[in-house]
Amino acid sequence: MTLSASKEALKKYFGYDTFRPMQAEIIEQVYQGKDALVLMPTGGGKSLCYQIPAITLPGAAVVVSPLISLMKDQVEGLRANGVRAAFLNSSLSEMEQRQVEDAFFNGELDLLYVSPEKLVSQNFIPLLKRASINLFAIDEAHCISAWGHDFRPEYTQMRFLKAEFKDVPVIALTATADKLTRKDIISQLKLKEPRTFIASFDRPNLSLEVRPGQRRREQIIRFIQKRPKQPGIIYCLSRKSTESLAEKLREAGIDAAHYHAGMDAGERTKVQEDFTNDNTLVICATVAFGMGIDKSNIRWVIHYNLPKNIESYYQEIGRAGRDGAKADTLLFYSYQDVMMLEDILKQNESDMLDVKIAKLERMRQYAEAVGCRRRILLSYFSEDVHEDCGNCDICKNPPKAFDGAVIAQKALSAIYRLRQSVGMTTVIDVLRGSGKKEMFERGYHEIKTYGAGRDIPFLEWQHYLLQLLNYGYIEIAHDQNGVVKLTPASRRVLFENEKVQLVRFATIKERQQADKAKAKQGAKPQRVRDELFEKLRQLRKQLAQERGVPPYIVFNDATLEEMAAVRPMADEEMKNISGVGERKLQLYGSYFIDAIIEFVGAAGSHGKTSTYQVTYEMYQRGLSVEEIARKRQAPPSTIYSHLAILYEQGRDIALEEMVSPAEVDKVLKCLRYLQEPYKLKDIYDYLGEQVPYHRIRLALAYGKREGPSTGSG
Ligand code: ADP
Ligand code: ZN
Repeated sequence: MTLSASKEALKKYFGYDTFRPMQAEIIEQVYQGKDALVLMPTGGGKSLCYQIPAITLPGAAVVVSPLISLMKDQVEGLRANGVRAAFLNSSLSEMEQRQVEDAFFNGELDLLYVSPEKLVSQNFIPLLKRASINLFAIDEAHCISAWGHDFRPEYTQMRFLKAEFKDVPVIALTATADKLTRKDIISQLKLKEPRTFIASFDRPNLSLEVRPGQRRREQIIRFIQKRPKQPGIIYCLSRKSTESLAEKLREAGIDAAHYHAGMDAGERTKVQEDFTNDNTLVICATVAFGMGIDKSNIRWVIHYNLPKNIESYYQEIGRAGRDGAKADTLLFYSYQDVMMLEDILKQNESDMLDVKIAKLERMRQYAEAVGCRRRILLSYFSEDVHEDCGNCDICKNPPKAFDGAVIAQKALSAIYRLRQSVGMTTVIDVLRGSGKKEMFERGYHEIKTYGAGRDIPFLEWQHYLLQLLNYGYIEIAHDQNGVVKLTPASRRVLFENEKVQLVRFATIKERQQADKAKAKQGAKPQRVRDELFEKLRQLRKQLAQERGVPPYIVFNDATLEEMAAVRPMADEEMKNISGVGERKLQLYGSYFIDAIIEFVGAAGSHGKTSTYQVTYEMYQRGLSVEEIARKRQAPPSTIYSHLAILYEQGRDIALEEMVSPAEVDKVLKCLRYLQEPYKLKDIYDYLGEQVPYHRIRLALAYGKREGPSTGSG
């Protein structure tokens, strides 16, 4: 098997032109019959590494996957692309299982997904022996290792594969595996001279942002309002807060639901399904949410609280933007969160407590970083990065270092005068000369530093105090309700004039001004999700509903974005859109082409020449449909649909030359027996495949313009 065959399949079934880094090499390895271990981040494109060989090689691939819901999604997605795939697991009845097994043994499948339990069950192995298998793919392979974070005992029984099927390559795939786990996967599966492929864990389409955790709800509401109609997840620490946050969001007119492990299974499934189908856009959830969903068009993820380590954080934000289109992530950070998490760890985990605390500490450092955040993340995962990313808050808004001695002195002296007996918020309130009742009740308004830092906003003070904390000028007494204390270093600042460097972030106003200046210089325009995108999104939703599949199975967001930008109006153009393979072109192409033509046509009525207009002019000049199609490099079916729409718009089209009154009559009559919205395919079938598609279309146009009755009874 050759690389060109794999590229052909990539285009034909998935509609993509090029492989991502490593995909081609991994596929090549499988073609050579060799084993491989593949490490790629979530959304990196692991599936294609075994799906392409499965499709192109004779026989079928057996894919082991631990999550039933993921299996179903994968199979659904493959079938939508015209790939012959099925799954076997306990969610199927005996009868259904038998049918799938038959299809498998009769060579009617390219991919068979099975649960690990099924694979290792006694009666399945002899069955496997009878089939022609081109490859075993072990997904989520870290489950095999007790070192991994998701150990599954059934996985360890799969060592028999290499013994029983000596010549069948095995490819193990995972998104999370440290060195120990990697070694374990290779030895447990008894892989033979495997090559290990480690892709970059970078997800450049995810923006990274950290904000101080003040007034989180207001900030979240504004964040969501700026992203209308975009699905997203907000992760909260407690079940209760998922509920109360969702309620607050609903009060603000945002369509939000909550999700946590304390709800009953039915409710949880409902919430998950509504989210998958874009019926609910915002989910406030504990981290239990997201494990088993394959939704590729999640556009943003917010962490209401600090995650307990960088691994979890990266995995959770990784659920956004799996389709490769731009997605945003936002983490709220407050010192209280760190203390709370530490308490929780200490109460619940006696095992490896030190390691867990150290991991939390790394998470805190990430949140407080003043350098490119992506570099910090990637270096945490042992990746060498030499450049700043340009897509994190620090890169976009680099802090400026300045002599912070005066600010530090003000803060430290306030803490001193407050007798080191209050928490951070009160220190800032005093510095800012707050009018809160507490200030007067406790006599804080008489302290010398009261109001000494009035000119600096609250959030900025918070940044400075955090920096002082990081540099060791102050500390927080966790055992005394988090009061702020001085340290030996603070005395040097107060009494020996020690220099303190602080960094300052641009204010929102400054940032807005900078953005404006950039826009004036003609900086790269951001890809906007315009009206057409919205129209295509609606169409996608409608088609998905009709077919009972999630919208992203029809097309993913990246594909829709490209369509909205390129505006393909003929099959040939549509084929060039990334994500449009043969099957989807056939199933959905004409719907989207029509929508685009309609949109462009409407826009054309104020100025630009629409594609209809071009067709219409040629038509008026007496060209035949075939000639127009050739000139416009579009299939005749597209020209017919132009003519149909032109006719509907009241233009002078000689419809009767293209479709007979009898046929119009037949088509319009049969509508009575079909359900709206009418699908060409249904009409075609209903009429016994006697009336070709383009004539059905013209007949419908007639019906739309002249009314449903054709006058002949
Ligand atoms: P993983 O299993 O690693 O989490 P997937 O295999 O689900 O990731 O792929 C993530 C997304 O990237 C999918 O929408 C997939 O169609 C897309 N994708 C994979 N390979 C390519 C490619 N070569 N070109 C364009 N898109 C791709
Ligand atoms: Zn950066």
